[in-house]
Amino acid sequence: MISLQSHEFMNPKISDYIISSEKVAHVQMGNSLEHALLVLTKSGYSAIPVLDARFRIHGLISSSMITESILGLERIEFEKLGEKKVEDVMAVTYPQVHLDDRFEKALDLLIDHAFLCVVDKEGYFEGIFTRSALLKELRTYIHKINEL
Ligand code: AMP
Repeated sequence: MISLQSHEFMNPKISDYIISSEKVAHVQMGNSLEHALLVLTKSGYSAIPVLDARFRIHGLISSSMITESILGLERIEFEKLGEKKVEDVMAVTYPQVHLDDRFEKALDLLIDHAFLCVVDKEGYFEGIFTRSALLKELRTYIHKINEL
């Protein structure tokens, strides 16, 4: 049986695992839903952060939030894509961690979320911590144990 020395696995810093902000696909406040849908479709990601010009985070937007917001009674009202803004439909509550949070907090949150936004104390966006980054770390750790 694999014996996980949880102290070793739980000790890493969140900063060691983040995809830094400049590599994260995002949209800006004021962008239209049409632009957001384009970025989501082209990037292939399910949800992306909404930032302001100073790189502070305001929410998350996904393709399903966009589609939901343009659903009419009998048809999808595509013409609204150019009229509505990302801030009209984005989720303003989303999972987030700070760089100095404990790794364990990220672990708990990643059970229910595919990624976490990493934010500094002033609300500036540092990057994201994905579930796949965590699973890669776990796999490395298990391999290490198996080689002992
Ligand atoms: P992954 O664990 O790599 O499949 O990523 C999980 C989720 O994190 C994706 O569906 C996206 O919502 C988000 N994500 C991962 N990498 C990026 C990135 N470079 N830019 C924006 N969002 C990302």
